[in-house]
Parts: sequence; structure tokens; C-alpha cells
Amino acid sequence: MRKFGVLVAVFFLGLIFLAGSQSGAASYSCGLGLRPGDMVTTGYGEFELTEQRFAHANVIVRVGIANSIPENGQVIALAVALTEDKLDNPPDGDSGSAGIFQQIESWGWGTFEERTNPEIAAYRFYHGHTDSQGRRAIGLLDIDGWEAMSMGDAAHAVQQSLHPDRVKSAIAAAQRIHKGVVGSAGNQCLSTGEFADNVVAVTNGAGGTTWVDASIAPALQAMMNDAKRQGLILAGGGHRTVSSQIELRKAHCGTSDYAIYEMPSSQCRPPTARPGRSQHQLGLAVDFTCNGVLITYREGNPCYEFIAKNWPRYFRQTNNPQFIGWKNLASEPWHWSTTGN
Ligand SMILES: [Zn+2]
Repeated sequence: MRKFGVLVAVFFLGLIFLAGSQSGAASYSCGLGLRPGDMVTTGYGEFELTEQRFAHANVIVRVGIANSIPENGQVIALAVALTEDKLDNPPDGDSGSAGIFQQIESWGWGTFEERTNPEIAAYRFYHGHTDSQGRRAIGLLDIDGWEAMSMGDAAHAVQQSLHPDRVKSAIAAAQRIHKGVVGSAGNQCLSTGEFADNVVAVTNGAGGTTWVDASIAPALQAMMNDAKRQGLILAGGGHRTVSSQIELRKAHCGTSDYAIYEMPSSQCRPPTARPGRSQHQLGLAVDFTCNGVLITYREGNPCYEFIAKNWPRYFRQTNNPQFIGWKNLASEPWHWSTTGN
């Protein structure tokens, strides 16, 4: 039953993600950022940034952020994955290579299962890896002075099998994909009203996207990653636009102007903040699901207990001026935000 619930949740998250990127293709074009469906141009060819390729790019960037890899390092990783196999995750390539970075077992990159797991492959691209036979694959952080190198040279230093001109010609495209993943601030994103200034994507435990403000994204990402390692699938909705908040108010409070804009939150079922008043509109709140089910109780709920116990480890680092703690709203066991509202 629980497994079925997770599958259903993953399915619906997938639908939301697909629906969002198809119907909103134009509004997703944040400045120079590339989004699913856009074409990617490198010095050696052009291809479509499919949903799946974008999801792989998202993993590369999120793993980078969660591990405090500077933005240039995330772009280098994207350029390598672009050049290796267009951000695909193929089971086999030349000379026994596999996965988004086409890592090779005999070089020390690990087992087939590990190399074709994008999250593990990305982690090792940054950190390198020593396999069970003591073979050491060199990661980005192993390269002395990589931050002072050109990004193309640094990419080639990690991935020596790649032709340096090819990977260098992919840097500009990698930067645009990076912008698309993190939902860069300002310009078109703001003018469409679809995104707040700094709303960025976090890859949640179910593999979908939770959109939150950039100031809390690394903390949320790290917490969701660690929860997943303990078998807890944390996901849920973060940022909501004003227009989606109005739709919720219509559904939960009533359709009159009074019901939508004036009625106290507590008179709605379930309680729903007035448009403009919700921390969700700032990307500073998340309604958590646990293994695919909304968290509706506290005691004995493993995800609630995980968040309640462990949030300081992640969220104390946040630099958000509104931050007074990662707090749960008393009336909603699922709702956590920087203010508790
Ligand atoms: Zn909420």
C-alpha cells in the first residue's frame, strides 16, 4: 500500500513537472537560461534539452550546491556531461564507460550501478573516488588551482579523455543550462509573474522539483538528500505564485472577493493564507510529503521526526534575513517555513 502511494505520488509529481514545463514554456525562459524543450548549441552540434536531460542537469547542479561546489565547478560538470553524451545517462559507451559522465570502472570510478546513478556519478565527478581495489579516479576538487584555470582547462583536467576543444565549446551552453536550472534572478521570470525573484529548483526525494527561495535551497537540498539516505522520501510543494494562491483560496475559502482576499485564514478548510500573505509566495515555506503522503500527524511520523530533530544541522546556515528558525505551523503538521507562518 505504501509502495503504491509512493508510485502515485511520483507519478503526479511527474505530471505537475511536465505540465508546468509544457504549458509554461515561454514563462520558464529566465533570461539566458535554457529550459526543457529548448535547443542546446555547442561548438560541435545542436540537440534538444529534453525533460530527462534537464533532470540530469538538475542533479549535477543540486549535488554541487549541496556540497558547496562553487558555481563555476557546477558549470564545468555540466560541460563535461554535455560533451560526453548530451546529458544522457547511457548504460554503455566507448571502452566500458557508462553514465552521465561516461566514467570508466578500471579508472576507479566505481561499479556500473554507481556510474549510472546520476547523483553518485555527480558526487564523484566533484570529489573523485577510490574504488575497492585502491584505484583513484581524480575529481575536480583534487585538481590544485582549478578555480584559477579557465573552465575549459579545468574540465579537461578532470576528464582527460575528452577533446579539449570540444569541452571548451560547451562551456557557454553549460552556463545557460545552469541558469535554467537555478532559475536566475530577475528579468523575464519576474515579468511573467510566474516566479519570484530568486526561486530555484531543489530535487526532492521523489526525484521531482520543489521550488524555493535560493536562500534556503542548499539547506533544503542537503536535508532531503540525507533523509533519502535513511530511506525517507521527503518531497512537497514550496513556492506558489499569487495566482495559484488565489485558486487555493477559491477552493478552500469560497469564491467571493471577501472569501478570496479578506476572510481570515482560519475560516478556510483547510486554513489557507490570504494572497500575498503566504510564505509560499516568497518561496520560504514547504508543505512536506513523507514517502508520497502529506504529513498530517507528528508523533510517530518518521519524516516529521527527522525534520524536527535535524533541521538545525542544515538551516542554521541560511543567510535569509527573514529566518528565525525552520518552524512548523501549529495547525499544519506538513507546513514548515522560515517564520513558522
Ligand atoms: Zn503550506
